[in-house]
Amino acid sequence: MVSELVAIGYPFFTLLAFFWGACLGSFLNVCIYRIPRRLSVVTPRSHCPGCKNLIAWYDNIPLLSWVLLRARCRRCGIAISPRYVIVEALTAVLFLLAWFTYGAQPGDRVLHLAGVTHVGVVPVYWLAISGLLLGGFVDCRHMIIPDRVSLGGIVAGLILSPLVPALHGASTAWGGLLQAAFGAAFGFGLLWLVARVGRMIFHKEAMGFGDVKLMGAIGAFFGMAAVCFTLFFASLLGAIFGILFILTGRRKLGRHIPFGPYIVFAALMWMFWGPRFVAWYAALMSPAF
Ligand SMILES: [Zn+2]
Repeated sequence: MVSELVAIGYPFFTLLAFFWGACLGSFLNVCIYRIPRRLSVVTPRSHCPGCKNLIAWYDNIPLLSWVLLRARCRRCGIAISPRYVIVEALTAVLFLLAWFTYGAQPGDRVLHLAGVTHVGVVPVYWLAISGLLLGGFVDCRHMIIPDRVSLGGIVAGLILSPLVPALHGASTAWGGLLQAAFGAAFGFGLLWLVARVGRMIFHKEAMGFGDVKLMGAIGAFFGMAAVCFTLFFASLLGAIFGILFILTGRRKLGRHIPFGPYIVFAALMWMFWGPRFVAWYAALMSPAF
């Protein structure tokens, strides 16, 4: 009976994770457009920026509508940015990945958990994915990370960690809260130091305060190891892409490049491969017997 339930439940929840991700991606698109413009994300309903007409529900179906409308408004024919379908697809795929990594596996009688012992981490990871994508896409365009993402992320991480201590590999609520608090303080403090040193060396803003707050949020959700991992890979990616952009003439030397998207990318890497990377690195560094 239980195995039959799981057999039906698994494909159902897998589809649900994808569908839920696509719908949330659609809402993230609204947030990405409206939050930096200081508009409400609730009202009014979505309208076309070209003809100002309300977008009908059947033209607002995640992923499908963009393809069916061939990336154009039905009424005025203005082009709809590929960003909409990219964000929807990315959110759906990442939600699915979180479900596959930390949720149930097919054929399992009990919920299989990869290194973590609480299925509650899946919705928390979904929330973190949403926040990271929102912050990354807004930073790409507007060079700011909304406080709702960074400060909101710190608060959410501190509230959720005692509820789902498995997020930090802890077994008690108190342990989870402590790890989250240390993580937030460490992420915030480390990036603040990097920003200060950067300003002293380059005599200009090397890193925005938004990045500092965002790293605090990453620490609150994922702990101190995640902060180190994220900072390392974000810097590496930033350096590689910075050089590529300059070589291909897409950016001029010394022009400000947002660091947030690299932090977001590295934090997403941590969510799916970080703990395995740390285990691999620890094995590599430990003396062979
Ligand atoms: Zn239109």
